[in-house]
Amino acid sequence: PARVRFAPSPTGHLHLGGARTALYDYLLARQTGGQFILRIEDTDRKRLVPGAEEEIMAGLRWLGLQWDEGPDIGGPYGPYRQSERKELYQEYARQLIESGNAFYCFCTPERLERVRTEQQKNKIIPHYDGTCRNIDPDEALRRVKAGEPHVIRFKSPQEGSITVKDVLRGEITVENRTIDDYILVKSDGLALYHLAAMVDDHLMKITHVIRGSEWLPTLPLHSHIHRALGWDEPQWVHLSVFLKPTGKGKMSKREAADLIKDGHSIFVKDFNDLGYLPESVVNWITLMGWSYDDHTEFFSLPDLVEKFSLDRLNPSPAAINFTKLDHFNGLHIRDLQVTDFSRRIKPFFVSAGLNPDDATLLKIAPIIQERVATLDEAPEIAGFFFKPTVNPTAEELTAKGLTAAQSADVARKCLSILESVTEMTPEAAEPPMRALVEELGLSAGQVFGIVRTAVTGQRVSPPLFESMEIIGKTEVLKRMRLAIS
Ligand code: GLU
Repeated sequence: PARVRFAPSPTGHLHLGGARTALYDYLLARQTGGQFILRIEDTDRKRLVPGAEEEIMAGLRWLGLQWDEGPDIGGPYGPYRQSERKELYQEYARQLIESGNAFYCFCTPERLERVRTEQQKNKIIPHYDGTCRNIDPDEALRRVKAGEPHVIRFKSPQEGSITVKDVLRGEITVENRTIDDYILVKSDGLALYHLAAMVDDHLMKITHVIRGSEWLPTLPLHSHIHRALGWDEPQWVHLSVFLKPTGKGKMSKREAADLIKDGHSIFVKDFNDLGYLPESVVNWITLMGWSYDDHTEFFSLPDLVEKFSLDRLNPSPAAINFTKLDHFNGLHIRDLQVTDFSRRIKPFFVSAGLNPDDATLLKIAPIIQERVATLDEAPEIAGFFFKPTVNPTAEELTAKGLTAAQSADVARKCLSILESVTEMTPEAAEPPMRALVEELGLSAGQVFGIVRTAVTGQRVSPPLFESMEIIGKTEVLKRMRLAIS
């Protein structure tokens, strides 16, 4: 059984990249009968965003990715918030120092800045210049005890190379001398990701580290840390990056924020209001970096638990394709049970200021389910069912090729037929209306268009006679009379 963790930093919105990582974590855990763990990496106190942790949790729940261990529900390897595990990291930093794999560094920020500038000037990749590497350990300890400001750095081996295996990319070999002496513990005593995450992954018995490929460059360091502490490494899985829809580069913050104008977003929190089903988003992001075969594309979460496999992950960058999302949303909307669909569109009518009743919703659901691409379109298409009045103007009522007066006259004739039908069903109302079309020598489009406008206030609507049946005879006649008057 796999133990897999999603380890977000609560520094902003949960976005598609994070959601996909969490999804793959969840799938692997469920498939193997293992555990999906949520760990909050909040050691960088400066970057914390209030509410971000709650938003991450809400986003995961919305997607249907319930975790088995986490800060809110606890678990056998807690606490699950790094800020509550500070002391643990100190302990392992000490171990690394004692074994000669880390050292205290007393360099001032000013000195480091000068070194960096100098290196940049000489076109050398900025890195720590090793000044404190060889301070005698007893001397270093004395300075630490005397209160001298310091950080703890990893002491990267200067010879040889390290070979690390990434599940998607195979073996990666790096010369040790190219690995910087990264800071593990800052001057305020707080551990950085490089140490904290490795310690937690070990203590939480994580079997697979699935994370973004921005961590590939520091993978050799992470591997060194595990080995220096005498631990077995987890399997490393670095996922592909997401590119903007054009495929040209990563999306900037600004571009991401602007998407909402077109009804799109990369933030999980937005998808619900934009009318997307969590099922669609799950289906969509699953396929941004993974495939089952070369043609199957419709997947539910339970399907995926069964079919997911690490060996079909693809390391190539994936362009975010919103057209595909719309496509999946259509498929998943049609796949819903009618009762479920009607339950899900209800909030959109409410946000549109309408007061939908469940019985009517259940009747209109089947006639609009095929017609919406996103749920927020439901009130645009079917809001008229719940409006007290639609009252189109004479101009709106006018059919193509007819004058306003002629159109009103047609409406009057329709009204008198509708008054006379025994019940407002398609079976009873449609035949006499079609006969009228014949008799007037007009097109069905013209005549029914007038009735449609009178009854729905719209030029486009769900099927007219089905709609009128749901609205009911009394209300249909009332709306017809109002439109003519
Ligand atoms: N806290 C890291 C991030 O948000 C997590 C990386 C990882 O999964 O190890 O980027």
